[in-house]
Amino acid sequence: MKNKIFEKQMPNIPEKIDWCKKCVISTARPRITFNKNGVCFACENKDYKNNINWKSREEELKKLLDKHRSKGKSWDVIVPSSGGKDSCFVAHQLKYKYGMNPLLVTWSPLQYTNIGIKNFDNLNNAGFSNIRYSPNGKIHKQLARLCLEELGDAFHIFVLGQIFFPLNLAAELGIQLIFFGENGELEYGGNKELFNKSGVNMTTDEKFLNNYFKGSKIQDLINWGFANKSYMKKNDFSDADLKYYQPPSIQTLKDAGIENYYYYSYFKKWTPQENYYYAVENTGFEGKIDRSEGTYSKYASLDDKFDGFHYYMRYIKFGLGRCIDDAAHEIRDGHITRDEAIKLVQKYDGEFPKKYYRDFLDYLEINENQFNEIVESWRSSKIWKKSGNNWVLKYPLK
Ligand SMILES: [Zn+2]
Repeated sequence: MKNKIFEKQMPNIPEKIDWCKKCVISTARPRITFNKNGVCFACENKDYKNNINWKSREEELKKLLDKHRSKGKSWDVIVPSSGGKDSCFVAHQLKYKYGMNPLLVTWSPLQYTNIGIKNFDNLNNAGFSNIRYSPNGKIHKQLARLCLEELGDAFHIFVLGQIFFPLNLAAELGIQLIFFGENGELEYGGNKELFNKSGVNMTTDEKFLNNYFKGSKIQDLINWGFANKSYMKKNDFSDADLKYYQPPSIQTLKDAGIENYYYYSYFKKWTPQENYYYAVENTGFEGKIDRSEGTYSKYASLDDKFDGFHYYMRYIKFGLGRCIDDAAHEIRDGHITRDEAIKLVQKYDGEFPKKYYRDFLDYLEINENQFNEIVESWRSSKIWKKSGNNWVLKYPLK
């Protein structure tokens, strides 16, 4: 890893990597903590989840919804949605189980897959209004390339908009309730501070909003890009174009009467596979026939052609690919054993996403050599070692 000043997570990778005794997550995962018995925070939480009184959590949910309910007069809750199974579940429950009037808000993927656009339409046709925003395509791809080169993840630019566009829109439309799906920190292992929180208070957790996303503000990276990247031309960019990559200001939020955004997973026991079945039944959601590259699952993150590269780069940076997330969650849900998970990880984790490789290079306007050079610039020496001509994990899962 050479001269990467904006990525602030990799320096925290420990010198020696340990694997959770119960699942297949390692200590290289950003923000994760392990207890003294070598069990990760997500597995500890899984046991806790089984002891939650979900009935009283539902009462809490109803109280919150009653506070905002418009009785159909206007939209009363924003559900950020890609058309994926989780947002189908959240939106459908809020509308048909709890009588809310949700507005779905979509930040377009870098490039839709066929199944992604189909599921987007399916959800729309299941009885929901949607506002979909497509950012300025010319600068969006420059920013994706900048993020790949300087943060090791082109997909990062999508993630920013996926979180911040709905928050900005909520403030602009005066809709005070926002429901994201799962608390990823809890479900996949991460920041302990978010444990047992129903959401994020945006007016007090500014640190979270500004520092969370690989540790750097996007505006700082963009300014640096203007000075250092020949493919970025300042006069292509306007402040308006860049607005939705950033959180709304505290003042804007206060003026709109918005404090929190919520995680639906705080109120409902979160099981991805159950959400999938729910979405198939209620909103016409379709999984894929073939598995996603890098894992064995067929129903998660289907809408963007390029998200395989997000997981592939995470594998290069942290030794944690896409299969790890699926397998770890399924162990905790009791669907597979740790031994089965290890076999799956050994078979699929880190598989190169070749299906959309050409599209990815074309989108970023780089060639294969440039791509390989970028990949190698992110290969962590704490994670990898050379064996003959090949790179192998220094501390493989076993
Ligand atoms: Zn674990």
